[in-house]
Amino acid sequence: MLLILKCICFFAKITQFSLIVISTLFFLSIVIRNFWCRYLCPYGALLGLISFFSPTRIKRDTELCINCSLCSKACPSRIKVDKVKTVLSDECTSCLSCVDACPVKDTLQIKDRFFNKTINKKHAAVGVIVVYFLFVLVGIIFGRWNNKISAQEYREYYKIINSLGHPTNNSQINDLNKKAEQLQN
Ligand code: SF4
Ligand code: SF4
Repeated sequence: MLLILKCICFFAKITQFSLIVISTLFFLSIVIRNFWCRYLCPYGALLGLISFFSPTRIKRDTELCINCSLCSKACPSRIKVDKVKTVLSDECTSCLSCVDACPVKDTLQIKDRFFNKTINKKHAAVGVIVVYFLFVLVGIIFGRWNNKISAQEYREYYKIINSLGHPTNNSQINDLNKKAEQLQN
């Protein structure tokens, strides 16, 4: 919890250096589309790895394709969709912008990777929502969705937050957690 408060303080009392770094990233994101997401975000890298295990793939029918490149232009990750039969990229987020941009019916489709069956876009969207809420439900059932920290406790920790440094390794994180436990007792 102290770590969460430290994160909140990072933005609430932002330093000049942090402001310069964030402004630079903001500027680079204007010049280079999705700069942070594509090149620096560790969460994006993790999602990219997970995407290799996705049961679906974007597939292009080369017989129907008229090579207009609209799909590649629409792709936020700049994937050359018009040059491949199957999109196999850790940068593909399955946003379906390429499918929406394609002017030729049924040329770009979502297919399941095992039986090569076409999946309706709406069904895919519903599937993602269902999976999301299943994760939430599992979290709630096993008591992992909400923490048990009261607003009063947050206020108490906030008073001492400046006396605590940012942890930079596991042992410092453990020390902070121990301090938090002592304050709770
Ligand atoms: S689904 Fe989105 S990220 Fe993936 S290739 Fe198509 S436009 Fe690009
Ligand atoms: S938008 Fe459709 S028709 Fe045009 S290049 Fe891409 S897949 Fe082919």
